[in-house]
Amino acid sequence: MPTDIEIAQNATLKPIGEIAENLDLADSDWEPYGHTKAKLSDKLLEKLEKKQDGKIILVTSINPTPAGEGKSTVTVGLGQALNRLGKKAIIALREPSLGPVMGMKGGAAGGGYSQVLPMEDINLHFTGDLHAITSANNALSAFIDNHIHRGNELNIDPRRIEWKRVMDMNDRVLRQIVVGLGGPLRGVPREDGFNITVASEIMAILCLATSLENLKERIAKIVVGYTYDEEPVTVKDLKMEGALTLLLKDAIKPNLVQTVENTPAIIHGGPFANIAHGCNSIMATKTAAKLGDYVVTESGFGADLGLEKFLDIKSRAGEFDTDAVVIVATVRALKMHGGVAKDDLKSENIDALEAGMVNLQKHIETVEQFGLPYVVAINKFPNDTEAETDYITDWCEARGIDAALTDIWAHGGEGGMELARNVVQTAQSPERNFQRIYELEDSLDTKIRKIAQKVYGADDIELTAKAQKQLAFYEKQGWGNLPVCMAKTQYSLSDDPSLLGRPSGFTITVRELRASIGAGFIVVLTGDMMTMPGLPKKPAALNMDVTEDGKIRGLF
Ligand code: ADP
Repeated sequence: MPTDIEIAQNATLKPIGEIAENLDLADSDWEPYGHTKAKLSDKLLEKLEKKQDGKIILVTSINPTPAGEGKSTVTVGLGQALNRLGKKAIIALREPSLGPVMGMKGGAAGGGYSQVLPMEDINLHFTGDLHAITSANNALSAFIDNHIHRGNELNIDPRRIEWKRVMDMNDRVLRQIVVGLGGPLRGVPREDGFNITVASEIMAILCLATSLENLKERIAKIVVGYTYDEEPVTVKDLKMEGALTLLLKDAIKPNLVQTVENTPAIIHGGPFANIAHGCNSIMATKTAAKLGDYVVTESGFGADLGLEKFLDIKSRAGEFDTDAVVIVATVRALKMHGGVAKDDLKSENIDALEAGMVNLQKHIETVEQFGLPYVVAINKFPNDTEAETDYITDWCEARGIDAALTDIWAHGGEGGMELARNVVQTAQSPERNFQRIYELEDSLDTKIRKIAQKVYGADDIELTAKAQKQLAFYEKQGWGNLPVCMAKTQYSLSDDPSLLGRPSGFTITVRELRASIGAGFIVVLTGDMMTMPGLPKKPAALNMDVTEDGKIRGLF
């Protein structure tokens, strides 16, 4: 089997104008970004307002292994398979961040014969959206420090500035820094720090905004910190919402590309699911729903993270329905949940698989709590044995659960036909009783507890003294009615990454809260989650190269 980059380089891409034409787009609805990428107009959604929505299919998974379980790959493969079935399907994915691309995970453009292209561009600078977000974020930082340097009319307490600088890279040394050192010419010294761009509030805002106007309204509401009297200071107070929106005027436009099989894909926005809300933009998903019969979209990591936030935050803000859920499971991750070490995953082990099924079971229960119909997709890896994949299929059949073995990585859409047929049927199922995990009227404390107990299976939550103080302060500010965005490890249902399977009898420790008022949620940091990752010992970047004639190597 060729590598991802080899498959990508050998694929025949259609001119992006042809893809746009097949979607019945008028010239004014899109603008080309080179030969194979385009930006869709941010007015397109408004123009299509009256058109009926296609079905929205949400792809999620069990708790992943460090390499990922192939959710993006299945998302792309399923879109391709639906097209082969004669349905007009559009894929809606997140934009990759350079941090993990250079670090460890591999790209977020799918894999094998289920990739979005041009994967080199998508994985690197793409259409510059993440750079625009970084610039807007850091412009705000510069203005805050300049405001204090120029006399601090707003009375901002430099010790209570919450707004951090960002960079699209894993760089642990920047987590905590001091700025403004070197005397009066260099500003007022204060503690600061960097987050990775995909954890920034501007990224969340871009993904939750429903129009350019709504983007500006949300940016104006950002709370950057507090005065000496502990009053919130907003972007509106700093009069910066116009300039920041201007910096994002192109980033707000969804990006149109295609897959290896020329299926249209809209890739837009990319918050991580473990430290942010983990879904592509509302504008991308809704635009795709207007243009296609089916949208296949993905939420990050397991159903405990991305799916919960998709259903409790994104679809609430975007006011749209989700028609069906696909839960991706792999033999290797289930075996890890059953106690097998990472290095031993290649050998057949039915006992471990059996022991690990509890993880899938919990995520199925979570989707059932939301009242949505679902299908389990078994994403087949080259080392899986027939006995192992049969075990999962039989397990599902015995419980009346729809499941499909998919081989979309090795065979593209052709490998996902059974899944596609299943999804078409499931999306029409009248058996739905959609309900969210919490109500907005619940107190912040109750919302966190409901997620911890119903979605993670925790006994209870425990708040540090700092988190308790913040919670009371936020409720006093009138922010108690906002949804919560949990920051939790993706590897475990608990906040301890070493507890695999289906842990029980645990408590979720809430360490700290952060108010993302522009995004419209309260971030809840559990365990030791950090909003600026570090690079591993052997970063993926060590394999990357570009030759004299411009050929890219080692990009997975
Ligand atoms: P996720 O979206 O769950 O993080 P990805 O779809 O990005 O996962 O896949 C992670 C990596 O695993 C990618 O490098 C992809 O090529 C690879 N991969 C996915 N599915 C398969 C499969 N069935 N066989 C082999 N490799 C796969």
